[in-house]
Amino acid sequence: MKLLEYEAKSIFSGYGIPVPRTGGVITKLGQLPAALRRAGKGPWVLKAQVLAGGRGKAGGVKVVKTPADARAAAQAMLGMRIATHQTHGAALTVREVLIDQASRISREIYLSVVLDRREACPVVIASAEGGMQIEELAKSKPEAILKEAVDPSRGLESFQARRLAFRLRIPGPQIPAFVRLAQSLARVFLDYDASLVEVNPLVITGSGELVALDGKIVVDDNALFRQKTLAGRKDGEASALELQAKKVGISYIGLDGDIGCMINGAGLAMGTMDTVALAGGSPANFLDVGGGATAKQVTAAFKILLKDRKVKAVLVNIFGGIMRCDVIAQGVLEALKNVNMKVPLVVRLEGTNVEEGKRLLKESRVRLTLADTLWDAAQKAVTAAKGAGK
Ligand code: GDP
Ligand code: MN
Repeated sequence: MKLLEYEAKSIFSGYGIPVPRTGGVITKLGQLPAALRRAGKGPWVLKAQVLAGGRGKAGGVKVVKTPADARAAAQAMLGMRIATHQTHGAALTVREVLIDQASRISREIYLSVVLDRREACPVVIASAEGGMQIEELAKSKPEAILKEAVDPSRGLESFQARRLAFRLRIPGPQIPAFVRLAQSLARVFLDYDASLVEVNPLVITGSGELVALDGKIVVDDNALFRQKTLAGRKDGEASALELQAKKVGISYIGLDGDIGCMINGAGLAMGTMDTVALAGGSPANFLDVGGGATAKQVTAAFKILLKDRKVKAVLVNIFGGIMRCDVIAQGVLEALKNVNMKVPLVVRLEGTNVEEGKRLLKESRVRLTLADTLWDAAQKAVTAAKGAGK
């Protein structure tokens, strides 16, 4: 579960991490004057609350000097659709705008805590080059990225936080504040069962204070049962498809590519995605309809797949083990009656009653391409997606 910036910053604040003075979020223009008052004297910064980074470049962050400018910016921002490099081609509607007192920035630093799977522990990542896309920096200048492994039973040690401070060239007077901040950030990560806690940028203000200007927290869904403070929190639009899938017992994870994949079984799904990649394509998602794969689930899965506007072709790869292929074929046909399929569809069935399943699909006159092997299916899907892209 991803938390919005203002939720993350409110948690930070509870851990003593300095954040800008805030007027809170508004959902209507009428709430702006009170929010500006709460945020104190201007200038202010208006920030679109969507579950994606890179808002700055997409018009989702505006610094304003007067209440009139704030009003114009809020009016433009509320209801705006925003697409950043992190929204996977889709756009998110801005329903909440955060009003903070603006900070004067003299330096931007990157600071986060993530799970390091190889080291099997959380790791604090820092860089003196904040504000930048950390993924790019990791590629172009890996030496600029600093790391400190966190012992989960002890948190970040103060000597580790000091070592980061020195390497980040935090000015002497701010070192104690940095140490507290970094340790608190690691504490937030552990306490919230997070998979990511990120401050980008952490700024040093004109008056030399350290302030978390932005905040992102991703909580491991498997730990939500014990994260009582987050129970009942509605998940945002970015993961709307994932949530919709979860409701009908489908595991769905959105990815960056353009081939929508519908598969039964997580292992087959992974194998299919590898094969698509090998054939020169790129999957738009991971989708496991589960072992059952009933017509209802296949319909739901198609609907979810086709909501992703990046999808240029759909690849169905289903193994009929417990479920017979003819039943699956009927399910696919039934599902196609209920969805508006505008992109090419490649279907590969294998397993029990496969001949009967294929015959049903062939005789149906539905426009689809049948494939015999996984390799054949992947190549056909890649070709179809490329053709549709032109
Ligand atoms: P993101 O682009 O979605 O990560 O949004 P951020 O909250 O990180 O803001 C993007 C950029 O806007 C920051 O890196 C800053 O350069 C700028 N910015 C955000 N808040 C302020 C502020 O209070 N004052 C000033 N001067 N710039 C700000
Ligand atoms: Mn940011």
